[in-house]
Amino acid sequence: MEPMTGIIIVLAGVAACVMFGCWRIKSRHTRRRELMAAPFPDEWQEICRRTVGLYNRLPNDLQKQLHGLVNVFLDEKRFYGCKGLEITDEIRVTIAAQACMLLLNRPTGFFRRLKTIYVYPQTYVAKETIRDGIIEIEGHSVRLGESWQRGPVVLAWDSVRGGARNIEDGANVVLHEFAHQLDQEDGEADGAPVLDGRSGYAAWSRVLGGEYKELCDKAKRGRYSDINAYGATHPAEFFAVTTEAFFEKPKQMQRKHPELYEQLKNYYKLDPAAWPEK
Ligand SMILES: [Zn+2]
Repeated sequence: MEPMTGIIIVLAGVAACVMFGCWRIKSRHTRRRELMAAPFPDEWQEICRRTVGLYNRLPNDLQKQLHGLVNVFLDEKRFYGCKGLEITDEIRVTIAAQACMLLLNRPTGFFRRLKTIYVYPQTYVAKETIRDGIIEIEGHSVRLGESWQRGPVVLAWDSVRGGARNIEDGANVVLHEFAHQLDQEDGEADGAPVLDGRSGYAAWSRVLGGEYKELCDKAKRGRYSDINAYGATHPAEFFAVTTEAFFEKPKQMQRKHPELYEQLKNYYKLDPAAWPEK
């Protein structure tokens, strides 16, 4: 083969790949746009009303927006039932509706690293290895949910259902695990999701870093805090537990931690403290 012919074939191949990639991205955008505008099945709406307390608090325009996000989410993510659990529409919609609350009002990649959600019927026991210096400890821990950096979200359906119904205790495993997914989008589970510009990171670090330190100090001294003490185990957990509180105890957070509330409000582009009581 002539060298020139070889170069032309390679260039044509590269162009075809680029065009195919562009076509795939375009077709995904088109599909998402269509699904965002598609009708939301009545049965799904009934599930949201019955199982997702926060859905009933959402103003109407946000409910409508959530319907579109759930349409896309359920089109793109796979659900897998563990220990014989049969995946029903109630399970899919209850999880999707809460996960998509975190995507309202802002551009989103729909948790782009996430492909599969594994659901156990009940709180499950996971094997884990804890490294302490050169010592490795094999153990088991009880889990309500997990979010893996490059992998799936794992949830226990009994915890999901309980957390979705009770919207005033500040505990919601779906919001927690999907906040981890957002945190991990930049490749690091460090308590800082992708923010707007350098000043955004500086303010986030000052406010959340300060609150995290205060929570750690209180936890060390065994003193009570209205923020879940589990948040003191790591900055990533702090972001996850404050996300739960932001949605479930917004007025309390706004009153007691106004700067923290403001940071989360800026990030999530939502103001749950202002939502009317329904
Ligand atoms: Zn966590």
